[in-house]
Amino acid sequence: MNAENITPVCGAGPAGLVAAITLARAGRRVIVYERHTEVGNRFHDDLQGLENWTTEGDVLEELASFGVEVNFTAAPFHEAVLFDPEGREHVYQSPHPMAYIVHRGAVPGSLDLGLREQALAAGVEIRFREPCRQLPNGGIVAEGPHGADAIGVGYLFDTDRADGAFVALSDDLAPQGYAYLLIQGGRGTVMSWLYDDFHRDREYLERTVAFFQRHAGLVMHDPRRKIGRASCRERV
Ligand SMILES: Cc1cc2nc3c(=O)[nH]c(=O)nc-3n(C[C@H](O)[C@H](O)[C@H](O)COP(=O)(O)OP(=O)(O)OC[C@H]3O[C@@H](n4cnc5c(N)ncnc54)[C@H](O)[C@@H]3O)c2cc1C
Repeated sequence: MNAENITPVCGAGPAGLVAAITLARAGRRVIVYERHTEVGNRFHDDLQGLENWTTEGDVLEELASFGVEVNFTAAPFHEAVLFDPEGREHVYQSPHPMAYIVHRGAVPGSLDLGLREQALAAGVEIRFREPCRQLPNGGIVAEGPHGADAIGVGYLFDTDRADGAFVALSDDLAPQGYAYLLIQGGRGTVMSWLYDDFHRDREYLERTVAFFQRHAGLVMHDPRRKIGRASCRERV
């Protein structure tokens, strides 16, 4: 088979793998190039929200409509607690899931391993440790963010606390950004996303942890420091 019949994809993140699965199921031969040794390199059992409030339909049904199965943990959340800048609590509930909490990184049940498995089953070839440089005959660039205009500081941890989703909007916790606490199945992620005043990140993180300890019963076991970055073109 010559190169023109192969679609190269740069990056084995969710964007690259979903594109690869879709193309392979449509009969294309696909090679995904991934510069790291495994999928989900940026994440270590982080909890993330697959949001379900921005489209008419259900996000998992939307994924199914282009051939992506749910072979990863996707825990529906029907309630979220929002703290406004004055610290007032607002509880939002919905009969339809507001979000599905997924696990990220090369850990059992994660979105990343689930998509990798589906891609391989669809016949996609994934070449790890092979960075993409040029795509002279075209292809798909799915390399994730380049650069950053926000940084996220937080902890990944184990916990006995019940599942829950909490968001706080306050410049005291996350200037121009937001802080959140997600807990699902004994794992937790607490983050403060700063869009300004980056050099005081430790201070904002300490305040965020103290805030959720006070207002959401946060208890962390074995906390691991987490630092992330995002560009506004990336959704966090
Ligand atoms: C701490 C944190 C929390 C977040 N929380 C949420 C959330 O709750 N909800 C949400 O929707 N989103 C969240 N996000 C954003 C979400 O993680 C990203 O939008 C998503 O991972 C982007 O997927 P992607 O496939 O575009 O890029 P990535 O996941 O970054 O994957 C890109 C892949 O391409 C590879 N790559 C890069 N360059 C090359 C190259 N030249 N050659 C080969 N391979 C290459 C990388 O190694 C990587 O594996 C969060 C992000 C962070 C950092």
